[in-house]
Amino acid sequence: LGLPEALPVLAPRRKTRQLDVGGVGVGSDHRVSVQSMTTTLTADVNATLQQIAELTAAGCDIVRVACPSADDAEALPAIAKKSQIPVIADIHFQPKYVFAAIDAGCAAVRVNPGNIKKFDDKVGEIAKAAKDAGTPIRIGVNAGSLEPGIFAKYGKATPEALVESALWEASLFSEHDFHDIKISVKHHDPVTMVRAYELLAEQCDYPLHLGVTEAGPTFQGTIKSATAFGALLAKGIGDTIRVSLSAPPIEEVRVGLSILESMNLRPRKLEIVSCPSCGRAQVDVYKLADEVTAGLEGMEVPLRVAVMGCVVNGPGEARDADLGVASGNGKGQIFVKGEVIKTVPEAQIVETLIDEAMRLAEEAGEG
Ligand code: SF4
Repeated sequence: LGLPEALPVLAPRRKTRQLDVGGVGVGSDHRVSVQSMTTTLTADVNATLQQIAELTAAGCDIVRVACPSADDAEALPAIAKKSQIPVIADIHFQPKYVFAAIDAGCAAVRVNPGNIKKFDDKVGEIAKAAKDAGTPIRIGVNAGSLEPGIFAKYGKATPEALVESALWEASLFSEHDFHDIKISVKHHDPVTMVRAYELLAEQCDYPLHLGVTEAGPTFQGTIKSATAFGALLAKGIGDTIRVSLSAPPIEEVRVGLSILESMNLRPRKLEIVSCPSCGRAQVDVYKLADEVTAGLEGMEVPLRVAVMGCVVNGPGEARDADLGVASGNGKGQIFVKGEVIKTVPEAQIVETLIDEAMRLAEEAGEG
């Protein structure tokens, strides 16, 4: 699954069908992918490609672009061709844009089930075109786009309603012998969302794309997404994720990767293990942790750096770290792999930690 070492995980992945989304494997045989969505006008090819390049550099695996107009559809071939990561076209109302996206070489197409009824006579044609091109389709149900009959039956977007809507949409494609499907059942409430995905996971073997929709600004959206994804990923449910934030998409990618790293579904890179501080602290732990984090930003080598506020618990708590400091009496004891290598004045703690981290990273790179 792309993990360099055997990391402990909470549960094995739920077995799914496998998809090829523009060269990125999606399903239980592959690592969980991080997705985001561009916020540029898709028709503005240069701006969209620029944003995709930034998302790619941040670690995004797959990107989605909205396609609400003919101008956007016309931009798809250039975007799909020049993007370094697979591009999914997001289409709500117009079947003709689905065909355009497939022809454009998009890695996949996302369709909205609340509107797919309008596609009814087109489903067979879409299935055939997608199958011929090897283009998977994501069925993206969310609370606001339930199939009207199902909405009337349940009265609101319950987990059961979301799942029934999604499976009905999937059946429209599977009737045409099209099975390269990924499903999402997003809801703004993490508890409803988690239950919906649990039910869906029991009833099909399609790969699942996780998302808490309209999750909110960064702080709230991060909490909602992390708790909901954590609950599902801990059970092995989820094959791709998108953290929806009212914030630039690069933040979505950072949070998504961080969630996967926290769940051991991606190897951790730099990890700052800093204490919360308490009445024993003899240094400003918050400031020290912030300065060390800023000084080591962008480091790719997996390194656990401990920042401890005192020498009472500090050394013990720092033992598992590659590198650490325990502060006290205006000084910092610098640890490497559990051994004190030097004691430096408080003012030199940050630069010493950064120097040592660079040295360890270099060693790791050379090894
Ligand atoms: Fe308190 Fe020291 Fe533990 Fe930090 S390391 S929380 S200062 S006891």
